[in-house]
Amino acid sequence: MAEKRDYYEVLGLQKGASADDIKGAYRKAALKWHPDRWVEGTDAEKKTAEEKFKEASEAYSVLSDPDKKAKYDQFGFAGVDGAGAQDWSQGFGSLNDLLNNLFGGAFGGGFSGFGGFGGFGGFGGGQSGPRTMRGKDIRTHVKLTFEEIASGCEKQVSIEQQKPCPECNGRGTRNASDIKTCPTCNGKGQVQHMTNSLFGRTVTYGVCPQCGGEGKIVTNPCSKCKGKGLVPVRTSVKVRIPAGVEDGMQLTVRGEGHSAPRGGVAGDLFVVIDEIPHAELKRDGVNVFCTKVLSITDAMLGCEVEVPGLEGPYKLKVEPGTQSGTVVRLRGKGFPAVNGYGSGRGDEYVKLLVWIPRKLSRSERQAVEALADSPSVKPDPSREDRALFEKESKYF
Ligand SMILES: [Zn+2]
Ligand SMILES: [Zn+2]
Repeated sequence: MAEKRDYYEVLGLQKGASADDIKGAYRKAALKWHPDRWVEGTDAEKKTAEEKFKEASEAYSVLSDPDKKAKYDQFGFAGVDGAGAQDWSQGFGSLNDLLNNLFGGAFGGGFSGFGGFGGFGGFGGGQSGPRTMRGKDIRTHVKLTFEEIASGCEKQVSIEQQKPCPECNGRGTRNASDIKTCPTCNGKGQVQHMTNSLFGRTVTYGVCPQCGGEGKIVTNPCSKCKGKGLVPVRTSVKVRIPAGVEDGMQLTVRGEGHSAPRGGVAGDLFVVIDEIPHAELKRDGVNVFCTKVLSITDAMLGCEVEVPGLEGPYKLKVEPGTQSGTVVRLRGKGFPAVNGYGSGRGDEYVKLLVWIPRKLSRSERQAVEALADSPSVKPDPSREDRALFEKESKYF
């Protein structure tokens, strides 16, 4: 395998290119190098087009994904290897999504048949064999507390995977002789369509409707799996959750999706993060917010209070004469950024509110009355105090 070229260089971009630039550059490359455009070309041209298209698609798949792009920008290929980089030999599921996303409805049927290629190796006038079957992906959710998100954790998620049937060893039938070549596609796994697309009049190859692209069908199917070769199995998968993830983020666990029938590649497991709301803390990105109510005497005399935090409660010193509405910033007590990328660690903001008593006993009332004419209690807000009274924040 030749030395890999920098993803930005592949797309003819500078580092720091915008999402629109990246999209535009890939669109251009895809239109130029898409294999459909080179069906009439020489073998050498086809091979070049295939390589260029593959290279551009891989670059785009990383640079168009903010998370992968961030890792690539920081760590280069090491940051996206395995987890990020698409293994293009495994078929086109995600490439199809990518192109459909990029070109929208314009491609319509032109690309729907694209999945039928047997990997790029098979490209070249429909002479390819059946494609490598890929198992379906599984999507599940995991619920996490703020504390678990702050520190990162490992979670067991329970999922139902389609696994090779033990009765027929995943073949779908007990006898190997009952696996026959599909009559619809003669074992090629794909059928030919003529289509008009952005690339002009092109021949595309669609997945064979009878065998689903496998090129084989099963006669005398196994009774346990009804010929599918797969049976559902409940399993528990360990998922490592990096610190700092947010509600709605999705982690990918390669190869923990459903198995593919009769061999092939397993799909992926997607784990979506569900944040469990915290009783006292609110979150905005890496920062957290909470409110603490003080008594009027504590606010006047100063005190030490306990405030909730991501690593357990903190002691907070309240200065004498603290105004209601004062916001104290606890530096570095927020969430870490995911994978350390970005601004490092967030902060915790504590808003101090002073509670004014509604009912007073006779003696309390007298004590307060004794203060009433004292010059110290006459309002004389400083500049900071006034700023405080005017400040509004959506987080409290
Ligand atoms: Zn077929
Ligand atoms: Zn079976």
